[in-house]
Amino acid sequence: MITRSDLQEISQLENDQGHLLSLYLPLFQDTNDTDYNIELKNLLRSADQRFQQQFGSELPASFEGLFEDIRVFIRDNAGKYGRGIALFATPDKGIIETRSMPSSVEPSAIVDSRPNLAPLIRLVEDYTPYCVCIISRDQARILTGILDELEEHSQLEDDEVPGQHDQGGWSQSRFERHIEDHVHRHFKRVAQHLFEMLENNDYQHLILGGPEEVVAGFRDVLHQYVKDRLIGHVRLLMEANINDVRSHALDVIEEQVKLRKRDLIQKVESESLAKDMGVHGLTGVMEALQRGQVLSLVVDHHVRTSGIVCTSCGAMSVTPAQGETCPYCQSAEIREMTNVIPGIITTAFQQGAAISVIDDEEQQEQLAKLGGIGALLRFRVEEQSA
Ligand SMILES: [Zn+2]
Repeated sequence: MITRSDLQEISQLENDQGHLLSLYLPLFQDTNDTDYNIELKNLLRSADQRFQQQFGSELPASFEGLFEDIRVFIRDNAGKYGRGIALFATPDKGIIETRSMPSSVEPSAIVDSRPNLAPLIRLVEDYTPYCVCIISRDQARILTGILDELEEHSQLEDDEVPGQHDQGGWSQSRFERHIEDHVHRHFKRVAQHLFEMLENNDYQHLILGGPEEVVAGFRDVLHQYVKDRLIGHVRLLMEANINDVRSHALDVIEEQVKLRKRDLIQKVESESLAKDMGVHGLTGVMEALQRGQVLSLVVDHHVRTSGIVCTSCGAMSVTPAQGETCPYCQSAEIREMTNVIPGIITTAFQQGAAISVIDDEEQQEQLAKLGGIGALLRFRVEEQSA
């Protein structure tokens, strides 16, 4: 499980000479060593080509040794990384950092001065830890997970709930009230447990499971903070097997991610067209980033744009404004980049912005009208009057 702070740490990996390799590789159980070797070779060749375009020279010979080390490392350790691996390395230091990735990772290899964090950022942003609570009138089963890694967290049971034989001399109505008290106490206890878990950052999103009327009653006793995290309800039995819980939960989460992104694009559209708390288009976003204004970045997964980056102040832009100097610091230390998008995503992330990568076709069309990229802003900059 990777967190935002893990990512902040990885984002500090920088290499002045531009020799930092960021590698993403999906791993499949039934793939053999030869297949990986071919995939790796292709990736590393593409990293070399990219490097040549960007820096005008071939990758230094020291990369050959590094590539061989990586090949051996993946051959021997693939099993530990599940369905994919993210790997950062330099010829000097060897393999610096590795993380496991879900199978949905796209293979890529980039050699640059900064790490390519875009796929990891995407993972952290889209798939925050979630909690499933299956509730009944006398039991609760709580599971926590991230993506498809779901595990049992705790079980709570009210073992004192009275059965029919306990009615004794009580009147029917009094006995029913007595049971309701038990149910209420049980709900309260579970609600408190969920509240403590939230305070402990065990989850970001909550999904409730169980019969509708039970869930409705339980919802009422949830703390407001917990209620705010609720994203859906699934009809699951207490004894549901974990695979069923997972697949139901992932449906709810995917739907929620989709809705959130749709709302975000609409907001960027209205705010940027009103020239208020939003911008759209590459130039607008880059300027906002340079001012530290970006609160939330939204970008089409397919957008690729070349541009320049100033190695002196780090500013990125589509083209140099005047001549061959940085439009912000006037440094001549600029170089061309074949694709500025990963750099934009990393910079926005380092500034603490939320990142949403769009891969839903309908949403991509909507975002295309805004130039494929946009942002909500933290603050507005008054237009300078001419
Ligand atoms: Zn500059």
